[in-house]
Amino acid sequence: MDMQTSPARKQIDRGQLLIGGKWRDGVTGETMDVTDPTTELSITHVQKASVEDAQAAIDAAYAAFEDGPWGRMHHEDRAKILFRIADLMDERAEDFAIREAMDMGMPYSDFRGIIMPHCSGLFRFFAAQAMAHMDGGYRTSYEPNIRILTRREPLGVVGCITPWNFPLALTCSKVAPGLAAGNTIVHKPASDTPLTALALAQVALDAGVPEGVYNLITGPGGTIGDTLVKSKKVNKIAFTGSTSVGMNLIRNGADTIKHQTMELGGKSPNIIFADADMEAALQAAFWGIFWNKGEVCVAGSRILVEQSIYDEFVERFSAMAKAAVLGDPLDSKTQLGPIATRAEYDKILKYVEVGKATARLTAGGGAPKIDGRGLFIEATVFADASNDLKISQEEIFGPVVPIIPFKDEDDAIRIANDTDYGLASGIQTGDLGRALRLADRIKAGTCWINTWHKYHPNAPFGGYKASGYGREQGAEALENYTQYKTIWANLG
Ligand code: NAD
Repeated sequence: MDMQTSPARKQIDRGQLLIGGKWRDGVTGETMDVTDPTTELSITHVQKASVEDAQAAIDAAYAAFEDGPWGRMHHEDRAKILFRIADLMDERAEDFAIREAMDMGMPYSDFRGIIMPHCSGLFRFFAAQAMAHMDGGYRTSYEPNIRILTRREPLGVVGCITPWNFPLALTCSKVAPGLAAGNTIVHKPASDTPLTALALAQVALDAGVPEGVYNLITGPGGTIGDTLVKSKKVNKIAFTGSTSVGMNLIRNGADTIKHQTMELGGKSPNIIFADADMEAALQAAFWGIFWNKGEVCVAGSRILVEQSIYDEFVERFSAMAKAAVLGDPLDSKTQLGPIATRAEYDKILKYVEVGKATARLTAGGGAPKIDGRGLFIEATVFADASNDLKISQEEIFGPVVPIIPFKDEDDAIRIANDTDYGLASGIQTGDLGRALRLADRIKAGTCWINTWHKYHPNAPFGGYKASGYGREQGAEALENYTQYKTIWANLG
């Protein structure tokens, strides 16, 4: 379809829980409102699951793992179902894109052009990985009569807990390797953005995923997320969210020796050298921070600029920020949609005030209404910032960025690494040798050279330091969803 057209908002059915292959309401009958941040109106309601519902979903996933065909099926047969999931997702791409635009304000065209191919691509990639790498091995020992067989097995029940930003992509990056390896799933999406999760669960059913293999529960993290984390029947938690909640999960999972992967927060430095192609560096910096209105864990949320080009960069970058087009995410002209939730909107505006008091505002700072409504915040730039400011150290998670000057390579690396986080980074320079040398010295899981926001299912993704551990995507991710059994055979 033509991605330049602007699709209309649509009616979204009330959401239910998917437990043991059946859609049903929660036992208490309580629901949660889902709001559109552009119109500030209710879109629909979803179930507010109780601990009892969470327990039922865990039991269904556990029974499907212990007694069902999924974990025992040949991985090629599982792969066929994953390929079907990918094809159905592509067929329903427009529905997914409209849901994400209405639910979290992601521009429709970004979703169709970038996110959707990535999401269905994750299912194809991990289906192929399972076919290629789920078989074990055959080894010998010092003793001539001994043979060693290794089996690669799924872990069991995987609890996937996801945040409100990039709801579909961060679900697929867990569910695809989890299912490919033969695990069963209980997914708990963020309460604010459950709409694509509901559509994905239906896709899984329609593709022929057996009963109980894929369960979806919507509701509060503090109760139903916590039930997943503490359950003996759940073997792994795949988490994306804030560092503080991640720390809680690590503590709460300790009593059941939970396998966990942690994709947490970031404050990623984008280092711009004087020898960079200025126009390209401006584009990388602009999209690095303002894509999806800065609600991106790997946003280039600290821009470090070499002193000799600092003034010129600040002037041109601020002009770009002032010209950024805010609007309805379903409108193809929109560059920045609304902030996903009222709580985030209020939080970001507090950081804007802190920025005004500690650095020089050169663009944005306002929160305009469009047609009298919407949680919009302008692309906001603070110049003459130092790295120790609150706006340079804390994750703002919105369209707000400090620009920090640096003297030379060593100074840039010192500032870049002077953060608790270590998720992403970038180097913009005309000298590829320098870029590769410095990439080795940056303490972050991703380094983009002369670009930003590149992703592919085959590229491992994850954090250093307080940004977490474990990798999603890439062949490496399958490691996090499998365990090995070693079988010793005495040939006699
Ligand atoms: P959050 O940590 O508040 O919530 C994440 C999920 O955890 C939600 O589903 C929530 O309901 C659940 N949860 C909350 N308390 C829980 C508990 N006690 N037990 C179990 N589950 C619980 O994060 P958020 O505000 O939804 O998302 C934004 C954060 O996510 C930012 O810090 C961002 O950097 C991070 N993030 C990281 C990545 C990455 O890949 N590293 C990607 C996107 C977002």
